[in-house]
Amino acid sequence: MTTLIDIPDYNEAQREENRRRSGIEYCLVCGKGMSQAKIDAAWFVHMTTGGELAHIDDELEEIHDQGWWPVGADCAKRIPKTHRTKF
Ligand SMILES: [Zn+2]
Repeated sequence: MTTLIDIPDYNEAQREENRRRSGIEYCLVCGKGMSQAKIDAAWFVHMTTGGELAHIDDELEEIHDQGWWPVGADCAKRIPKTHRTKF
């Protein structure tokens, strides 16, 4: 059984602008670039191919698994601890 939640809302145009300015690594929620140091300390969320977040203990079938994505510190506060983890 999986417990899926939506990615927190963020202004679409602003996210695109942030993404345009960011490098390879960026926050899934807001699109702001993340340095290696931020990535090393980041929370990660497990995203499905449907663009939802899975509970960290859930096993996703491979065809539904879009992998783990970093989230910046501020955006992580908007995600319940059941749905984010640090590696
Ligand atoms: Zn963010």
